[in-house]
This record gives sequence, C-alpha cells and structure tokens, in this order.
Amino acid sequence: MRIVRTTSWREDVPLARPYAIAGGAWDTAQLVFVALETDEGDTGYGLAAPAEEVTGEDAAAAAGALTSSELGWLLDSEVGVASPSSGSPVWAGDVAARVKGPAARAAVDMALWDLVGRRTGVKLVDVFGRVHGALPTSVTIGVKSVAATLEEAEEYVGRGLVCLKVKGGVDVDEDIERLARLRERFGARVTLRCDANMGYDTAALARLVARMQELALELVEQPLTPALDAALLEHEPWARARFVADESVHGVDDLERLAALGAPFGAVNIKLMKCGGPTPARALAAAAHRAGLGVMWGCMDESALGIAAALHTAYAAPATRWLDLDGSLDLARDPFVGGFTLDGPASAPFERRDYVQPLDRPGLGAEPAPPPCTT
Ligand SMILES: [Mg+2]
Repeated sequence: MRIVRTTSWREDVPLARPYAIAGGAWDTAQLVFVALETDEGDTGYGLAAPAEEVTGEDAAAAAGALTSSELGWLLDSEVGVASPSSGSPVWAGDVAARVKGPAARAAVDMALWDLVGRRTGVKLVDVFGRVHGALPTSVTIGVKSVAATLEEAEEYVGRGLVCLKVKGGVDVDEDIERLARLRERFGARVTLRCDANMGYDTAALARLVARMQELALELVEQPLTPALDAALLEHEPWARARFVADESVHGVDDLERLAALGAPFGAVNIKLMKCGGPTPARALAAAAHRAGLGVMWGCMDESALGIAAALHTAYAAPATRWLDLDGSLDLARDPFVGGFTLDGPASAPFERRDYVQPLDRPGLGAEPAPPPCTT
C-alpha cells in the first residue's frame, strides 16, 4: 500500500458554547485536516487542532506544515506496521523528523494509523490490542459564576453526562463554592473533577485540598505552574494521587523530571495534539505506566475524528484511568461524522450517556460529513 496523494484543508468551526479558562477564552475551533490516499483506493484521515499556548503552533502554521508540497516525502511511501503491539509503525521516525509542530505531526500520524486499520479491516483499538472496556468521559464547564455553573450542569446531567470537569484557577473560594453547590445539588450522582490550568498559588491549593475529601473530588488537574511542581510534594499521598499533570508534561523527558522530583503527580493528561499523535502517545502512556502513573486522556476543541484517535489509543493503554474526551461535543458543526458513540451501562442506577465507545468500523471510524443539503 503506497501513498499517491495528500490533501489538506482548514476549517474554522464556531463553538456552540464559547468558554473561558484561567488564562484565556475561546469561541472557535481552528482545525486542519489531512487526507492520505493510497494506490489501493483507501483514504486515511487526520486532524491537527493546534493551540498556540499548548502546542507552540497556530492554525496557519499547522496548515503550512500539511500542504502537499510539505508532505511530498510521503508519496510512494509504503504504509505498514513492523509490529503493532510494540507500537512501531514504519513511519514513526520520519513523521517526527519531517513534520513541524506536534498538532501537525498528530494529523499525519493518525491518518497513517487510519490507513493501517482500513487496509486490514480492523478498528484501530484492535490493531493496538484492546485492554479496556468503555469508560465515561467528563464534560467541561468553563470558568463562570455559581449560577451559570449550576445551569450548565443541569443541562449536562439532563443529557446523561454526569462526569463534570469544572475549570477553575481564577478564584479558589469561588471554585470551592461552585463545587460545593454542584455536590449539594446533584449528590453522588455526579463525578466532580477540577482543572485549575496552573491558576492557583500554593496557599490557594491548600484551601482546595482541605475540602477535597468532603467534596469527593475525583481529581485536580494542574493546580500550579510547572515551576512549582515540587511544591505538590507538601501534600499527603492521598491528595497527590489525585493531582494530574497537564501543562507539566509534554513528553517522556517530563516524566523523568517528575520522577526525579519524587512523583508530585499521580497521573498525567495525555493529548494527541500535545505529544504528536497515537505513536508518541502510546510511548508516553507506556512510560507513565512504568513510572506507576495513571493516564487521563485529554483533547482540544476538535472534531470527532481526533476524539476517535484518542479513544482508540486510550483503550489500548494499560495505564488509562480517566477520559476527558468531550472536545467535539460543543462544535456548532463537526466536519466529520462517526468516530464514537455515547451510551451508558444498563446497570447504572440512573440514566447516563457518557460512556464512550469507538465505532465498529475499520481504522478510526470517522468520515467527512456529507455536504449540507442546499435544495
Ligand atoms: Mg487541563
């Protein structure tokens, strides 16, 4: 199977629900797609969802890295996998060396894996080797007032989305109030996560940790800036087990740095756009596993295509503990269809529809959306 044509295109998609976090506000997802066609008639699709403050590249840079002239080296390339279980596709070194920017690399890597799955007729999670059944994903509530937080949560819970990730980090007392009111309103029915996006100082974090058990907070993501990673060690082991590194970890080097500090976090948030696609994500998840860390799989504002790629990778990684793969749910329109379904276990004591399953289709299981009907 050889690649005979590459195409790419950019789509800026409005968010149905613009939101703010500590450090910024967003109303549009800037997406760059790539399609790789083979001499056997298969097409593999990939997505770059860059975020300059996280991946160091903006949408223009990602689009520039994915033009057919930049990807000319892929033409005539043989697509294959030396050993799927070891995670060593034949292209890994080439993509890392030739494609600029982690989100652009993620697009090419996921398109190549999509081709491997399509060629073999197997969904990607089974190419990798599935080790998990379905897990729930959280949905994200941005930084907003107590009343607006409760209103948005009401809507999610009504839709069966009961795992809530509350963005905070601007004012810890307001964050605690929002979490307390959510717990009071919904009781044990909801799971509560908090992501401070580096917004707390050590005193603010101490105030939150003092309430963590009472609020039954499942995890706290990136409470402090990476420069303060060592300060997390002042907290008790039960709290550290629930600290998740996001901005502190981009690659395996960061895991080594954290291990040398003495393991301030219990888990790490892996995003395909941050590390460069399923291949490096699998290596990072394996390194996290060896270090005794859990993995939370995260995402950007992105298409179901990218969410599917993360999901296939997550369910094949033994270290996977939590999913935060809600990035396509708030797109006003998704340029791709399929990718995953949301459902709940029949045994749940109330209706929930937040367990994510990849589709039973070869590769990533997502296709370009049909053009809108114009008649
Ligand atoms: Mg985060």
